[in-house]
Amino acid sequence: MHYSGWKVIWEGLTGNKGWKPVWREPDPKPEYDVVIVGGGGHGLATAYYLSKTFGMRNVAVLEKGWIGSGNVGRNTTIIRSNYLLQGNEPFYELSLKLWEGLEQDFNYNAMVSQRGVLNLYHSDPQRDAFARRANAMMLAGADAELLNAVDVRKLYPFLDFDNARFPIKGGLLQRRGGTVRHDAVAWGYARGADAEGVDIIQNCEVIGFDISGGACHGVETSRGKIRAKKVAVVVAGSSSRVMAKAGMRLPIESHVLQAFVTEGLKPVLPGVITFGAGHFYCSQSDKGGLVFGGDIDGYNTYAQRGNLPVVEDVCEGGMAILPLLGRLRLLRMWGGVMDMSMDGSPFIDKTPIDGLYFNGGWCYGGFKATPASGFCYAHLLARDEPHPTATAYRLDRFRSGRMIDEKGQGAQPNLH
Ligand SMILES: Cc1cc2nc3c(=O)[nH]c(=O)nc-3n(C[C@H](O)[C@H](O)[C@H](O)COP(=O)(O)OP(=O)(O)OC[C@H]3O[C@@H](n4cnc5c(N)ncnc54)[C@H](O)[C@@H]3O)c2cc1C
Repeated sequence: MHYSGWKVIWEGLTGNKGWKPVWREPDPKPEYDVVIVGGGGHGLATAYYLSKTFGMRNVAVLEKGWIGSGNVGRNTTIIRSNYLLQGNEPFYELSLKLWEGLEQDFNYNAMVSQRGVLNLYHSDPQRDAFARRANAMMLAGADAELLNAVDVRKLYPFLDFDNARFPIKGGLLQRRGGTVRHDAVAWGYARGADAEGVDIIQNCEVIGFDISGGACHGVETSRGKIRAKKVAVVVAGSSSRVMAKAGMRLPIESHVLQAFVTEGLKPVLPGVITFGAGHFYCSQSDKGGLVFGGDIDGYNTYAQRGNLPVVEDVCEGGMAILPLLGRLRLLRMWGGVMDMSMDGSPFIDKTPIDGLYFNGGWCYGGFKATPASGFCYAHLLARDEPHPTATAYRLDRFRSGRMIDEKGQGAQPNLH
């Protein structure tokens, strides 16, 4: 079914009887060419591009819960491509370009809103670092503008410019950055993949792998065994647990990250802002609530709920730049489990086991990567070679000394 304005009007006039389920609910087949483990944004995007762009249609996505129950439905919806390093910036810029055409491509309203992302800076050295980052972004074809305090004041007059500890001296603005309705991304990719013939199987947990002779031949699931020529794991915060079933230990730790939404306000924040001297970022949803978040909770866990010390820390960061936050009531907060890699950058790679592939380590920045991650993973699965923008995302990069330490912080998940 093709969605359009005419379709909405027609259905409105005829009692809304013509809408069909957005995807089928098939039973698993005994065998597929590719089984994708994990029906988050990245798994569904992989299935979509694998079938639509690379013509592989005998594909299943196995999801242990329901579509959108993981981080794809829990994040704070920010997209951007403001990275510094060679291994990262071209990849994230590819992702932003895919976001820009996504709704027309999969014929679904994902509310892609390029309202701008502004990273505030509070000192002269930080301004210099942002100038360097802006140049790196422009070299990769991205947009970047360095603003001074006067420019920032025109966009966000109510920020605390003269804060005694963290005066706002300017910001790095990426106007093409913004927000996207997160769960609509999962639904849009699921619908698009289903239309190409992909089986999306919910409530189907992968509990083991069929590995013999150094090769993976399929998976064991809560709904029986499924054979596959290729098995593609992409389970975000569950990466270590799932890959341990294949006998692999990853350079990834799982941590909880919390998000917060206030009561609705009249439009006040035109875009996304981030605090440059601590971990705090904020945007306003189309319903009016301020959506914000900050640092991970800082201990290893698979629980999807966080603790109070980080709530205090995030709110302190918010109050340092946005004092109006103190007058608002918090409506909701929740947590998601983050696959924090040791250099803050992801993996899209084959494993040493033939036929077993891995995609993960997205830390708290994987939502914006969803289209490029799906596209590049599909490229790897279809052609058995990495996409040119994702050649650095290798599992052996710690052994070979080719880390992509975007922040230059070392193996410190809470600082990436
Ligand atoms: C609070 C919060 C805020 C964030 N904010 C942003 C942001 O603003 N911008 C940004 O770019 N990123 C952000 N992120 C990060 C981003 O959400 C993640 O990096 C990204 O969503 C991870 O990829 P995914 O969508 O595929 O993960 P998920 O949606 O978690 O998908 C993984 C799926 O695998 C399934 N699974 C696990 N184990 C199994 C199994 N054994 N068998 C079958 N299925 C299994 C899970 O149920 C899950 O549905 C945020 C994350 C959180 C939690």
